[in-house]
Amino acid sequence: MSRTEHVTIVGASLGGMSLAQELRRLGYDGRVTLIGAERTRAHYDRTQLSKDLLTGRAEPESLYLATEDEIAGLALDLRTGRRATGLRTGEGSATVTVDDGSSLAADVVVIATGSAARRPRFPSDLQGVHCLRSLGDGLALRAALADAKDVVVLGAGFIGCEVAAAARELGRKVTVVDVQPVPMHAVLGRVVGDHFTRLHRARGTVFALGTGVDGLVGDDQVRGVRLTDGRVLNADLVVVGFGGVPETGWLEGSGVAVDHGVLCDDAGRTDVPGVFALGDAARWYSPRHGGPVRSEHWNHVGLQATVVAENIVAGAVSNGSAAAARLDELPSFWTDQFGTRMQLVGAPAPDDRVHVLAGEPGESGLVAVYTRDGRITAAVAVDAPRALVRHRAQVAANAPWPPAP
Ligand SMILES: Cc1cc2nc3c(=O)[nH]c(=O)nc-3n(C[C@H](O)[C@H](O)[C@H](O)COP(=O)(O)OP(=O)(O)OC[C@H]3O[C@@H](n4cnc5c(N)ncnc54)[C@H](O)[C@@H]3O)c2cc1C
Repeated sequence: MSRTEHVTIVGASLGGMSLAQELRRLGYDGRVTLIGAERTRAHYDRTQLSKDLLTGRAEPESLYLATEDEIAGLALDLRTGRRATGLRTGEGSATVTVDDGSSLAADVVVIATGSAARRPRFPSDLQGVHCLRSLGDGLALRAALADAKDVVVLGAGFIGCEVAAAARELGRKVTVVDVQPVPMHAVLGRVVGDHFTRLHRARGTVFALGTGVDGLVGDDQVRGVRLTDGRVLNADLVVVGFGGVPETGWLEGSGVAVDHGVLCDDAGRTDVPGVFALGDAARWYSPRHGGPVRSEHWNHVGLQATVVAENIVAGAVSNGSAAAARLDELPSFWTDQFGTRMQLVGAPAPDDRVHVLAGEPGESGLVAVYTRDGRITAAVAVDAPRALVRHRAQVAANAPWPPAP
C-alpha cells in the first residue's frame, strides 16, 4: 500500500476523472473521493460542445468518455452536484469543505476545477445571450440556434470561430466581432489567423474586426450589439466567446498560491505539500517557456493527470523535493471548422516569422512553420497530419531554420 491513503479530487471532468483512472491504472488502492459541481456525469468531451453538438452531428450520449460501468469499476467515492467551497491546509493533511456542509480531510488534494466562461464587462443579462462551457450551455445554444436569424459572436477565439462555423453550417446569418485584426491573432499571429478569416468569409461569415463591443441592445430579449466604432449589429442570438477564467475563487484563504491559475511546478505540485492542481485551473511551470503556463488545451490535461498520479503513488507530494515524473511535452491543440482540422504543435509568439511550406491560407492543405531568431518554434497544418509529424521533432529540438540541406 502506498503512503497516501486518501486522495480527494475537486472537479470531476476531464482532469479529475483522468487522474482517478491513472491512479487506479498505477495500482493505487487507497480511497479516492471525487467532488464535481455538475449534476450530471461531467466526464464528457467538452471540445464537441462548439462543434458537432451544435450542428446535430453528435448527441449528448456520444460525448461521454467512460461508461457508468467503467466509472463504477474505479471504486470512487463520487459526489456529483456538489461544489467545493474552501480548502484548509495544515500539518500533513488538507481539508476540503463542500456546499452540503460536509468536510473531507485527505492526505492529498488535487484541484481540477477547470475554467468558467469569462463574462462581459457590460450588462449581458438578456434573453438570447449565451456562453459556452458546459453540456447544459451547449444544449441551450443548440436549441437557440434552431430559431435564430441573426447570430453575433463576440470574440474570434477558437470557441467563437467554431460556434460561428457551426451556425453558418446551420444556415444562420453570422457576424464575428473582435478587437484583434484577425481571428486568434494573439495565439497564431497574422498569417495563420488570416487563414480563418478567409476560411470563414468564403462560407459567408461576416467579420467586424479591429473593433470592440460597447454593449448590447434590447429590453428582455437581445436585439443588437453596439460596437465601439458606433455601428449597431442586429442580433437575436449573441454568443460570448471571451475565453475562460480559472475556477479558483474557492481557494481564497487556503494558502495555495494563485495567479491567473493555481501555480505549480512541472510535476503539478503547488507550494502547499500534498496539494496538486491540473488542467485549465492550473499554471504549471514549463521548462520550455521558463515560466508558468496555463495551457487550456485538451491534450495537456491527460498528460498532466499521468504526471500527478505518478507523483502521488511515489509519495513525491512536496514541491521542491525530487519528483517521480515531470511534464516536458510540446504544447499542441486542434480546432475543427467547416470540416477542416487545423493542428498546431509548439508555442508560437504573434511576432514570429511564418513560412508557408504548402497550400494557401484559407485552404485545406496549408502547412506552415513559425521561426524566431532562426529557429523553429511551432508548426501548423490544416488537414495534413503527416506534415505535422514531420516537423514535430524539429519543433521539439527548437532546430535551426531553414534546416541544413
Ligand atoms: C466549447 C469548448 C471547446 C473546446 N475545444 C477544444 C479543442 O478543440 N481543442 C482543445 O485542445 N481544447 C478544447 N477545449 C478545452 C478543453 O475542453 C479543456 O482544456 C478541458 O476541458 C480542461 O479540462 P479540466 O478538467 O481542467 O476542466 P473542465 O473540463 O472545465 O472541468 C472542470 C470541472 O470542475 C467542476 N468544478 C468547478 N468548480 C468546482 C468546485 N468548486 N467544486 C467542484 N467542482 C467544480 C466543473 O463543473 C467541471 O465539471 C474546449 C473547451 C470548450 C469549453
